[in-house]
This record gives sequence, C-alpha cells and structure tokens, in this order.
Amino acid sequence: MWLPENYFDLPLLNPEIQSMRRIDYIYASNLGFLTEDGVKGGCRRCEFYRMRNTEKQPRSVESLRVGRYGEAVAEVEVDLAKKARIYVDDEVSVIDHKHRISGRVDLIIIDPAASSDPYIGIEHKSIWGYHSIKGTIVPDARGRFMPKIKHIAQTACYANILSGIKRWWIRYLCRDVAKTRKHELVILDNGRISVSGVDTGLSIQQIHAWADSVIAHVRTNTPPPRDFTPLYNKQQLKAAANRGEFGKTDANRISRNNKVYKGDFQCKYCDYSHTCWAGETLPYDMNIQQALEKLRK
Ligand code: SF4
Repeated sequence: MWLPENYFDLPLLNPEIQSMRRIDYIYASNLGFLTEDGVKGGCRRCEFYRMRNTEKQPRSVESLRVGRYGEAVAEVEVDLAKKARIYVDDEVSVIDHKHRISGRVDLIIIDPAASSDPYIGIEHKSIWGYHSIKGTIVPDARGRFMPKIKHIAQTACYANILSGIKRWWIRYLCRDVAKTRKHELVILDNGRISVSGVDTGLSIQQIHAWADSVIAHVRTNTPPPRDFTPLYNKQQLKAAANRGEFGKTDANRISRNNKVYKGDFQCKYCDYSHTCWAGETLPYDMNIQQALEKLRK
C-alpha cells in the first residue's frame, strides 16, 4: 500500500484522524450478519447514519464514563500481557478495502508453549451485571456459553482480514466480579464461523453481505430498513420468548398473553433512535403504562 510522505504527521495536523478512524468505512465493531431470517448483530441503519455524518443524540456523562471505564479495564489486560511477556502488539489497525470495513484489533499475544500458530488475536469486551455475564462468563439459563453476535462479527472480520493469525479469542472481562472467560473463534474453510467448537451457523459471507448492503445505501443516500425495534409487538414477543431470550417470569406472562414491555437493545443504546423514529414517541420517553398502552394497539 502506498504511504504518503507525511503519513506520520497526519495525526498531529488533524485531530479528526488521531485515531485513524474513517467515516467512509464501516466500523468492524458495528458489524452484523445479513441472514435469510433478517439481520443479526449490528443495525445497518445505525451505521448508515454514522457514515452519513448524521448528528448523534447527546449522551449522558454517566454513559460516557461507562465507556471510559470499559477502555480502562481493557488497558489493564494489555498491561498484564506485557508483564507476562506474551505481548506482541495492541490497537492494530486492519482494513478491508473490498467491503469497506476498518477496525482495530485490541491485542495480539504470543503463546510461548505453542509448537505452531503461536500468535493469538484478542478482542476484549468489558462487561458488568448479570445480563451481560449470562452466556459470556457464566452459563445462560440453558447451560450454554456463547459470545454476543456483534462481537462474533467483529472478531470474525479481523480473523478474515489477518488470515495469517489462525487463533482468535473473544475475551470477556467482568468489571464487578473481575471474572474473565475466553471464547475461541475459528473460520472454517467454507466461511462458517465456529466458536469454542460449536458451529454458529453464521458466516463471513453474511458479514460481507451486511457490509455491502450498508455501502449500497450510503452511496444512494437511502436509509436501510430498520433492522430492530424499540418495542416488540405480540408476534415479536412470542418469537423472542421461543428463542429463550427472557427469564421465566416474562416468558410465562407472554405465554399467558399478558403484555410485556420489551424491545431490541440495539435501539435502546442507539445514538440515532430519535432520527430513526422521528415523529413517534419512543418507549424510553414514555412511562411504562404508556408503553403498555401502545403495545395494546
Ligand atoms: S433506532 Fe433501532 S432500528 Fe433505528 S437505527 Fe437505531 S438501532 Fe437501528
């Protein structure tokens, strides 16, 4: 790749590119999968808004601090890798020009005991609270372990770009109880993604289909369909309950046709929800009674 003469000066001259993150490339951390059953993981419309430079909703100081705490925990793990003398590099920039995806690998370590493939790429995810550790650090209600889908997409994308590194981990770091757990990710020859020996049914091809779809919408300046919703209707509630997404109490209430106020977390934490749902009152702006009334319609 050609490097301009002043490449190393650019971060000094332009604070916008200090982190070398580009608005015209999809962030790997926002990726999803375009499957026959719809989108899983990241929302295409949300990424479209970011790439079209849409104004973000202001975030609270608390939410900004939560983000900073997450980064600090990941920095501790990098420091520990250095002290353990297994550190190779961190914040490694990766780019896929064909599908217009960019990102940074959190950490690369070397396994001193390995006779082959000693390098391991790691994506760190700092989490807290029971809902986050369920399935990632402790088993879920069905006794399973599985990383969050967005994290699988991001790490698989890195593994695909840096294909010389054969070993990849998604490593969860729990801030409140200081437990950690790693999930080993492998891309199979047919592009399917396996995590800790389990075929996820997801593939690299589905990540590329997701990215290509976003880029096509960005080029024509037409927002992609909404991939998620802040408030499930009856059918969506039942489908989510059947997938085992709720605890026993909520699942029982749904099966008895009682209304339960639930929606996709993607919308709850979206920086563009008020642009996306302009003209509608979002459930986050209602009290619970108003949300249930809306559900009844
Ligand atoms: S509000 Fe929901 S559907 Fe709309 S852009 Fe955000 S995540 Fe996507």
